[in-house]
Amino acid sequence: MGVMKILLVEDELKLGKAIKAGLEQDSYAVDWLTTADEGLAYAETEVYDFIILDRMLPDGKDGLDICRTVRAQGVTCPILMLTARGELSDRVDGLDSGADDYLVKPFAFEELLARLRALKRRPEAAVQQILTFGDLRIDTTQKYVTVGQQDVQLSRKEYALLEYLAHHSDQICSKDQLIEHIWDFDADILPNTVEVFIRSLRKKLDGSRSESYIETVRGFGYRLRRSS
Ligand code: CA
Repeated sequence: MGVMKILLVEDELKLGKAIKAGLEQDSYAVDWLTTADEGLAYAETEVYDFIILDRMLPDGKDGLDICRTVRAQGVTCPILMLTARGELSDRVDGLDSGADDYLVKPFAFEELLARLRALKRRPEAAVQQILTFGDLRIDTTQKYVTVGQQDVQLSRKEYALLEYLAHHSDQICSKDQLIEHIWDFDADILPNTVEVFIRSLRKKLDGSRSESYIETVRGFGYRLRRSS
């Protein structure tokens, strides 16, 4: 699973900005769009772990139409609808269109996080909460990392990178793959940036170890060592 990537379509600028910032604070990567057309374009080209759709969008568009369209295209990730209207018929419309859950505005941000956590628990593959690699221990619920008895303080992006590598330790993760999953779709990230973050992660994790937790596979990318 790794870092959760979310598509957010919300035309209210203040709310959209707050949701994006809040989710990123919680280590999600968020692509935020304000129109139905843009939202649909992103939903069609990118792979997301969650999609959050406002119902009333500009030009008379309805988030439900995005929902129907992406479901028809075979997108299976959880979809959460946001709406200013809380009437029962609206809820039923939403669920009939393939949405998994419904949140009525205004809502407390904590409520949104709780709904996402609940949706995350729903799929077949249960998310493993503690990942260990030798002495390295990653608690993905608390987002807390230790090496032996030592706490390791990581920035949000460093943590996201480490968790992604941990969830994909059976494969070599290319820089492009890491950029795609850890940074936002439209952020101007160079492969160089990945190297910088890997370097700072190693500095924090490896201490005086002779072999780094993060293996460089020349020409391919990085892999977290299973045991070291
Ligand atoms: Ca709206």
